[in-house]
Amino acid sequence: MSAAGSGNTVIVATKNAGKVREFAHAFAPLGLSVHSMFDYDHLPEIVEDGDTFRANARKKAESVGRALGLPVLADDSGLEVALLDGAPGVYSARYAGEGASDRANNEKLLSELERIRKERPEAAGELYNRDVAGRLPDGAEVLSRARFVCALAFYNPISRTFTESEGFAEGWIINRPFGEEGFGYDPLFWVPSYNRTMGELSKDEKQSISHRGQALKRLIDELGGLRTD
Ligand code: IMP
Repeated sequence: MSAAGSGNTVIVATKNAGKVREFAHAFAPLGLSVHSMFDYDHLPEIVEDGDTFRANARKKAESVGRALGLPVLADDSGLEVALLDGAPGVYSARYAGEGASDRANNEKLLSELERIRKERPEAAGELYNRDVAGRLPDGAEVLSRARFVCALAFYNPISRTFTESEGFAEGWIINRPFGEEGFGYDPLFWVPSYNRTMGELSKDEKQSISHRGQALKRLIDELGGLRTD
């Protein structure tokens, strides 16, 4: 049994195809492949009712780890938007309703930000950034400062212990989507260090600055590496 999962496989407690792709990309250079909840039958239904990313990540890792009797990694993540006082936060996946598509969530995000800009122009003004605005493509506008958050929990059902980490990515929400890479809110999330949206970054570029990439680096340090023996 390895620290990572079973043999050369890391089990990730998710049904989010975007996350599966990113973890598979991150673990491949370590010689590890990824299994997700798509690969197992009869796993328990998980209600993500925690108030924090951390609580939800622990819950997912523990329920799947216990069900399989194997170590499991879980990611709970989301977007915190300053002008929305931190929303959608832990509700990011279902911002536009249970089972909402990425597109519906992005549309809701833009309509909420437009609404607040009309209702509270002074708040919107405070969160405006001239520097970033000057570097956007024609027709694009800054709507708010924002950050992505990722909490990782790795649960070992034998020792019943958790190893945990967090990562953050700071950026800006803009009013038009750019890029087909990534998933979720990536096309609306402007990354100042790249002068592009997260949706325009390659997998390697995103991993180097993303909340998930940062959290994973910290988790692997915390575990003292991911052994496969
Ligand atoms: P979870 O499965 O409850 O952790 O939901 C995560 C949700 O947050 C996703 O469905 C996306 O809407 C959003 N999210 C998390 N990480 C990312 C990312 O890397 N890019 C874009 N959106 C993300």
